[in-house]
Amino acid sequence: MSRLDQVEESATLRLADLTNELKRQGKDILGFNLGEPDFNTPSHIIEAAEKALDTGKTHYAPSPGIPELREAIAEKLRKDNGLDVKGKEVIVTPGAKQAIFAACFSLINKGDEAILFAPSWVSYDACIKMSEGKTVWVKSNEDGSVPAGFVDHVTKKTKLIIINSPNNPSGAVLSKKDLQAIADVAKDRGIYVLSDEIYEKIIYSTKHYSIGTMIPERTITVNGFSKAYAMAGWRIGYVTGPKAVYDNMLKVQQHTISSPTTFVQYGAAAALTGSQVPVAEMVKQFHARRDVVVKGLRDMGLHCEMPEGAFYAWPKVEGDSEKICEELLGYGVSLTPGSAFGPGCNDHIRMSYASSMDQIKEGLARMKNYFSR
Ligand code: PMP
Ligand code: GLU
Repeated sequence: MSRLDQVEESATLRLADLTNELKRQGKDILGFNLGEPDFNTPSHIIEAAEKALDTGKTHYAPSPGIPELREAIAEKLRKDNGLDVKGKEVIVTPGAKQAIFAACFSLINKGDEAILFAPSWVSYDACIKMSEGKTVWVKSNEDGSVPAGFVDHVTKKTKLIIINSPNNPSGAVLSKKDLQAIADVAKDRGIYVLSDEIYEKIIYSTKHYSIGTMIPERTITVNGFSKAYAMAGWRIGYVTGPKAVYDNMLKVQQHTISSPTTFVQYGAAAALTGSQVPVAEMVKQFHARRDVVVKGLRDMGLHCEMPEGAFYAWPKVEGDSEKICEELLGYGVSLTPGSAFGPGCNDHIRMSYASSMDQIKEGLARMKNYFSR
């Protein structure tokens, strides 16, 4: 059997392509499937990348990234996250996705196990499988918290626990207590934790904590620019972790992508060192949209936990989520079926609210037609 036989196509990307294709054919479809900010990248970031292009930053960069950006990332991780990181411990990657792949590929060998909490974003399971590991699924509580008995799923083969807070697709934020419980297990049993913090800045009424402050020797921290800085198409992210893991991740980087695009890295450095006002403005808009979306879904009679972060709502539905999403397409809205996010998630659908308020209101009206038919 080929190692890719058990890997599914990315449901999020496949659906985005399908929605775009339907739009190209002239169909009136509103896309709430893809998790990509609708905002443009702030102009000072674009200017920094343009300047880099104009001044010849068109050569290969050092494989782990340009020193200016690695230093800026380390400074951010110290200041925002309380992590004791130096620039030379950071690898800049073409998107957080590549960082996650490199971390899984570095840590997981044939037959090793990795724990994933369902619901979980679609690519973790694929990265584990591409590393020839086995995903051990643990269902989160409905409010997104960690179930008490999760430690029972740890075996001698467990190498990695992947966490993602704020969570895609549920928007749940892990409490300090839950993080400590995971940290204690990781420490006791000698397991690594991959903490995907890409939605860290998109958080509403609660606080983000980095598990790396609790178990620095066991944590691989991943983050990126796609969400907070509306830079999805720039393909830029980063990772830091303990020396042994860092060394392996760097080998993956050197032998696959060489280095992330050089002039893009100057834009990313400006994102971190420049004004953070645009981030706060985007978060304010996501917050207003979240309130409208959750109210709209609840008014349709759907149960929906209040997402505390990211830009997804995760309502419960009755019936098969794939069939529901297919039928919703007929009503002019594209959403992602819960089944894509792990076992036991087929009774949810994911609605990304990274769209304009007008589109959201129109989309909710279309969904209401469907759910009240
Ligand atoms: N982690 C999560 C939870 C995501 O939703 C995404 C989607 N973009 C990624 C990582 C990958 O982001 P990037 O664009 O930086 O590769
Ligand atoms: N992460 C986003 C999503 O979940 C973008 C697509 C992807 O990378 O999966 O929709």
